[in-house]
Amino acid sequence: MSTSFQSKIPNSLNEHWMPFSSNKDFKKNPRIIVKAEGIHLHTHDGKTLIDGSSGLYCNPLGHGRKEIIEAIKNQLENLDYTMPFQQGYGGSFELATMIAQKTPEDLNRIFYTICGSTAVETAIKIAVAYFRSIGQNNRFKFVGRERGYHGMNIGALTVGGIPNNSKEFKNILMPGVEHMRHTFLPEHKFVKGQPDTGSELADDLEVIAKKLGGENIAACIVEPIAGSTGTLIPPKNYLQKLRKICDKHGILLIFDEVVTGWGRTGSAFAAQEFGVTPDIITMAKATTNGIVPMGVVAVREKIYQSVMDASPDGAVELFHGYTYSGIPVAVSAAIAVQKIFEKEDIFNRVKQISKYFEDGLHSLKDLDCIESIRNYGLLGGVDIKMRDKPGKAGFNVYKKCYDAGVNIKPTGDALIIAPPFVCEKRDIDEIIEKMRLGIQTIINHKLIRIIHYGSNHFYKTILTKKFI
Ligand code: PLP
Repeated sequence: MSTSFQSKIPNSLNEHWMPFSSNKDFKKNPRIIVKAEGIHLHTHDGKTLIDGSSGLYCNPLGHGRKEIIEAIKNQLENLDYTMPFQQGYGGSFELATMIAQKTPEDLNRIFYTICGSTAVETAIKIAVAYFRSIGQNNRFKFVGRERGYHGMNIGALTVGGIPNNSKEFKNILMPGVEHMRHTFLPEHKFVKGQPDTGSELADDLEVIAKKLGGENIAACIVEPIAGSTGTLIPPKNYLQKLRKICDKHGILLIFDEVVTGWGRTGSAFAAQEFGVTPDIITMAKATTNGIVPMGVVAVREKIYQSVMDASPDGAVELFHGYTYSGIPVAVSAAIAVQKIFEKEDIFNRVKQISKYFEDGLHSLKDLDCIESIRNYGLLGGVDIKMRDKPGKAGFNVYKKCYDAGVNIKPTGDALIIAPPFVCEKRDIDEIIEKMRLGIQTIINHKLIRIIHYGSNHFYKTILTKKFI
């Protein structure tokens, strides 16, 4: 469908080094977005795309929300910036109260950061600071999980489990980090929602605790649903088991809810959805509807109190923070978002439409090149059978889906689908139909030469050693 939002490609594409992109491929055939409205994006060459991934999971309320724009405008006219260290402004406290009302149990203490990576980095530091505050200086080791993604700072990168992201930086990674196996088993390929099998994979934490000494481990960090490596849903009882093992050894449990936080599963946090309360939650993305960068860390009362109590009056209790921690413009956007969550009963809305999304997504199973489909809430993952080289088929399918009018996020040979929370059934239909069209084009052009996965071992080797 053509639109009136056409604009020229910039004079030069050379200078901008694009993040996490194939710069060479893009610059040969650019995909430039010139306008976004509601759940649609308009491209420089006149196409309209439905936003099947909510941007990078971060625009769940749709684009151009007037309430958020107004809030930001008002804020900028009144107070555009204030130093966040040793002074403050009302909004950041108001927002912290609002967030604390939504977090589970007593995760009521709120620290602001700039993004997901800095939220994770902050969570790591808070865990270490907490143990130092109670005299356990030996606890500074961390446990992450294969196929986990926690961002790109050194700490977040180290606890993450994607070798391709860290292989260049091996020499400068954090010491003392071990990884559990990921939770995706061959029998999970077309399971809807949480798989029944695989909870025993949580025992990897017990094995690591034996190896490192449970008393030396500060925290175990996982995404409740691994997002960036293609939506891996936790097996039933897996997170509960992790919680138990953490409790046994006094290890903090961190849920990285940068993707799952703020409604993606149908509850405010995956912690509530799966009935497991961690000690620290990180969030970002949907916090401001993706409009202004912001990350948030919510911690249990006891963690905050111990760090406070360990410092003399008048001293800085935690030597950590960012110039842009909780700045007015981000806070005003986040407060407006909180109000929309309430007014439009957003989390419930996600719950209502999730089944429809599940059925739509799994209807793609008949396509020849589909290896696996997974889903929970408004989050889906579709694996494309690998072409001669890992990642090639996924990237090609993404480009064909873009041409067919749906924007989704490729990650290796997986496609991530994360529809906006405000979408209607007909929007889900549009996303699925256009995905089908895009995938079908590629099948018709025989662009996919399928390599069948021989075994889980092969699958894992490909994913962890060569590609992700
Ligand atoms: N944690 C998770 C679970 C994420 O998915 C991401 C980004 O996708 C991050 C952390 C890093 O967030 P950011 O890119 O905002 O630094």
